[in-house]
Amino acid sequence: MLALVVGAAAIAICRRPQEPQPFESTVWIMDTAVVIHVFDQNLSRDAIESAITAAEHEIKRIDSLADFYSTQSAIACLNRFAGIEPVIVDSSMVSLLIFCERISELSGGAFDPAIAPLKKLWGFGERDMPMVPDSAAVVNALDIVNQTAIDIDSPRVFLGPYGAALDVGGVAKGYAVDRAIAILFKKGIQDAMVDAGGDLRTISGQLTRGKRRIYIRHPRDRNRFWGRFPHDVGAVATSGDYERFFLHDSLRYHHILDPLSGYPARECVSVTVQSPFCALSDALSTACFVLGPQRGFDLLCRLPRVEGVMIYAQGDELKDRITPGLMAIFERLP
Ligand code: ADP
Ligand code: MG
Repeated sequence: MLALVVGAAAIAICRRPQEPQPFESTVWIMDTAVVIHVFDQNLSRDAIESAITAAEHEIKRIDSLADFYSTQSAIACLNRFAGIEPVIVDSSMVSLLIFCERISELSGGAFDPAIAPLKKLWGFGERDMPMVPDSAAVVNALDIVNQTAIDIDSPRVFLGPYGAALDVGGVAKGYAVDRAIAILFKKGIQDAMVDAGGDLRTISGQLTRGKRRIYIRHPRDRNRFWGRFPHDVGAVATSGDYERFFLHDSLRYHHILDPLSGYPARECVSVTVQSPFCALSDALSTACFVLGPQRGFDLLCRLPRVEGVMIYAQGDELKDRITPGLMAIFERLP
């Protein structure tokens, strides 16, 4: 049985001793280890290694486009020229921005790639110190976030107004995973998994079909799991309030921000989304986390080939909502 821990830095893969060793390789992007597992047994070692190398390059390429901090990245360039002039952007970044706009529309603005000024203010960037900001500063940052417009005339993109800034951290890992899977598949690999710290996508062949379970971490106890479900083909991603957070006056502040209030979204604790694509699962888990267990759940139920598990607090108790397509196969764990 292959067991994957979702929403955690640690991934557990348990193999029966007689199962062949997969090829594995790790690249680091966005503070996350992305592990490529190839289970294929039909291709030569050289063919597999060259497919993995190509997938790794693509993951690094997406990271270098989306990296908020690198002065060379497409995102940094767009942010630098916000309100000044259009920027010519790589076609992958154009696709990612169009996708972000679509998820933003679908979620009524709960997913918003223009969140960067708020994220910076809260100190949730990789190079910042998290802190509770002054409420007037939140209002100012919100003002810019709400005014932000992304004008796409491929390959030109104009971001405005001056001071606006994009952060695609809510979707970039998922997109990199999708791109890596696309490359592996094109190179003839039929059984693989790309796992970016629990945001993952699989293609399934004889070796893994019917054997893989996704384990959802218990959001308040790292030593327990909330539940598990079987997963063959497609993607799973989780957004939780327990990965990047700080406590202040006994209140938990985390990195998933509500673009309506400017504060961390309060209603959910953890949201796991299963769908055909990792970018979709990644963006929807963030969006539905912000929307909360009513509106987020309605969105998941409305979308075809999308399932999910939403964990939320009611008083001191944690509760969950599971979409109908997952209900019959989801097992809660003690
Ligand atoms: P993780 O990065 O832990 O996998 P998520 O996929 O939920 O978690 O992404 C959280 C990141 O998404 C934040 O660090 C930030 O970059 C970005 N983000 C935060 N709030 C929003 C939002 N409302 N809409 C879009 N992106 C957001
Ligand atoms: Mg996400």
